[in-house]
Amino acid sequence: MSRRLWTLSVFLFLPLLFALQGRGEEISVLPETSAHYNNKSFWDNERTVTWSPDLRDPIRNAILEESRKRRRQWPVLTPIDQSCLAELKIRRYTGKHVAFYTDLPATEYLDDFVHTLDDALPELCKHFSLDLPMFEDWHIDAFLMSSKKAFEKTGALDGAPDFQFGYSHYDRIFVIDQKYDYYNCFLLIHELVHSFMHETFGALNPRWYSEGMAESLALHRFEGNTLHLGIIPREKKETPGFKRLETIQKDVRNNAIPAMETIFRYSPDDYRLNVTYSWSWALALFLQNHPKYKGIEAKMPYYMMSPDPMARLRNMISTQWPRFIADWYDFVGWLDYCYDFEATVIDYTPGNVSSEIQNRQGTACSVPANKGWVNSGIRVEAGKTYRLGSTGRIELYDSRQMVPSEAGGVSYQYIKGRPRGILLMSIFPESSDRKSDFVPWSDTTTVNANRIFKPEYSGTLFLRINDTPGNLSKNRGSLTFHIRQEQI
Ligand SMILES: [Zn+2]
Repeated sequence: MSRRLWTLSVFLFLPLLFALQGRGEEISVLPETSAHYNNKSFWDNERTVTWSPDLRDPIRNAILEESRKRRRQWPVLTPIDQSCLAELKIRRYTGKHVAFYTDLPATEYLDDFVHTLDDALPELCKHFSLDLPMFEDWHIDAFLMSSKKAFEKTGALDGAPDFQFGYSHYDRIFVIDQKYDYYNCFLLIHELVHSFMHETFGALNPRWYSEGMAESLALHRFEGNTLHLGIIPREKKETPGFKRLETIQKDVRNNAIPAMETIFRYSPDDYRLNVTYSWSWALALFLQNHPKYKGIEAKMPYYMMSPDPMARLRNMISTQWPRFIADWYDFVGWLDYCYDFEATVIDYTPGNVSSEIQNRQGTACSVPANKGWVNSGIRVEAGKTYRLGSTGRIELYDSRQMVPSEAGGVSYQYIKGRPRGILLMSIFPESSDRKSDFVPWSDTTTVNANRIFKPEYSGTLFLRINDTPGNLSKNRGSLTFHIRQEQI
């Protein structure tokens, strides 16, 4: 090696050497016994807060190692009596990681089902940023049953409590036939996610999170022979038997959106109702996919065995909590098939009172037809009077042709009780003007030409086109919103 090259190597490798030494020190302070994981100070350690689940991070690996230890303490279940399967008309299919048992009549779909469950494993590893080789020896026994009776005789259900639809009992998962192939597969993957998370992350707390993740990841789609988990459904017929989205939409129409704190407190007993699954799914879907929060969600599984995972979630969101709640209400208010998280990200930068707003010409801002709520940058004040208007034309997406529209929208199609394409307006109030029962985006009005507007509270003005989130990115053009303060 030449002297110059050698000097260059030293400069390049010295920082790396220091970095490795630094990591070595961190590794030496990691907990070695399970007791540390019940110790709040471990979880409140600055290093534990700033780690990344995507890297070969010592904190991440220590948590995974602890859950592996807990896995070894799982009880030994009654062996499944294989000798009586034929007599009980139960078929057994063997895959790489899954043994699938069913007493349902053989169909082409069921004959291939064990491979679908096997294919779920790499998808779960991808979602949780885990190495597939870690799961080389992973095994699950999966049961799809027309009734429990025959399976009880095999010993498979020994130790499992009574259940209505499905249950995850350590490394055994059970589902009672729901008559839809898709929904049976959905429920089996739901239980598979529970077993996977229990084994990998050591616990299933909080309940809303483990149920929400199981629901969200179980929503699946095949593209050719490739299985995808954690999908956002494109249309109702894509997910036969899955009714959670309609339940949410009904609650939104009836102004019955549960407070975030209510979802956080869901207990096992609450899961006797389907509605709790729906709201847990919505919250997990929101956290997993929202560009602002998916990095936070990625850490949640690792916090499940901490004494208070919800405190970790609150710490991660921290001062952004009011905006987090506002984003959540925006999401559930518009939740629909093909929901587009990228097109609906909201910028909450507080608006200003521009000097032009008081002039005769007033001020204006552009409202693109391909976005959700757009921050106008304009601050309006309670008690003042404004004259509003809009100009311009947009094109709304339709599978046959683009439909021209102005700020009044189109009369032949209604969304959320208003013409599609109509210009909507809402104020995001300043914290001092927010009432205790304030629900973000609930006070949404339309912008009519020459409309006089007297805000009840001060805040930043937001605008959007009335359209479903799935259509937004395919719309074209923008409207121009005009506002002028009246000198009364
Ligand atoms: Zn569940």
